[in-house]
Amino acid sequence: MAEPQRVGDLPEDVDTDDCMTSYTHIYSPDLLKDQVAFITGGGTGIGLRIAEVLMRHGCDTVIASRNLEKLKEAAKKLMAATGRHCLPLSIDVRQPQTISTAVDETLKDLGRIDILINNAAGNFLCPATSLSFNAFKTVLEIDTMGTFNTSKVVYEKWFKDHGGAIVNISATLGYRGQALQVHAGSAKAANDAMTKHLAVEWGPSGVRVNTLAPGPISGTEGFRRLGGNRADSMGAFSSIPLQRAGNKTEMAHSVLFLASRASSYVTGHIMVADGGSWLTSANDVSMLLGIASSQSAKL
Ligand code: NAP
Repeated sequence: MAEPQRVGDLPEDVDTDDCMTSYTHIYSPDLLKDQVAFITGGGTGIGLRIAEVLMRHGCDTVIASRNLEKLKEAAKKLMAATGRHCLPLSIDVRQPQTISTAVDETLKDLGRIDILINNAAGNFLCPATSLSFNAFKTVLEIDTMGTFNTSKVVYEKWFKDHGGAIVNISATLGYRGQALQVHAGSAKAANDAMTKHLAVEWGPSGVRVNTLAPGPISGTEGFRRLGGNRADSMGAFSSIPLQRAGNKTEMAHSVLFLASRASSYVTGHIMVADGGSWLTSANDVSMLLGIASSQSAKL
């Protein structure tokens, strides 16, 4: 297992889908004591680290996605590292019935849901001209309809009568029309609007709805596909104001803020955590096409 690295003010992280072997709390360790979080896509990447950090603050979790074997393995690691309970459940966010069954099972086993993290997504680099109609539709179905489906099921079965916090995981791709990302950029832009619509409609029921928009995050599949490790050694991150990629624990800390009482009067907010990247970074179609073709040659 890789050793966690803590550099300066950066929190510990590991690049793999493992838990950290050491962790330094910034917030009170019982910030989320005995709460329950339902995390879509919680078995890998950023979602797994969100699950770990919430659990390290006293929360039990449900991690839900399609691959149950992978989820069971992740749940074992999470429980061993944190001492909290993690329930792995199989869902496809495109199919409301699977979400409904998983939420019923969560309420039967854990008795409540306080936090919903809509993190599941599908993504790849592709120029619009090569993108099939079906590929565009699939990304919208997972990212956008999946976020709506899961929010609606959790709202109707629990949040409507008990309140809660929803945190959607977005991206900055649509802000400047990032090349090769029309599918994900469009899907996340719709989700950012959805954050505001649902914050307005569900606020009176005590439900806060916020969004975190990460920049390039190390130790994730998306980062590897974008040639992140190579880009780092080539100095590509020098165009980012904070001069580096973010790490998964930094994203989890931002989610912890939005999901907890630390942000009790915040709703309808899109919080960008990207080191200032979208303000300054290149959006060069030919350069990005070069990365896309070198990545597809390796697949
Ligand atoms: P990742 O490891 O590929 O995670 C995506 C997760 O979504 C997987 O666990 C996958 O699990 C799940 N999933 C995919 N389709 C699903 C479906 N139909 N139903 C249920 N679950 C499904 O990606 P990541 O890089 O950590 O990204 C996490 C979030 O951060 C995403 O919303 C992404 O857009 C956002 N983000 C990431 C970056 C970055 O640098 N990585 C930057 C900006 C934004 P199964 O295969 O088991 O279904």
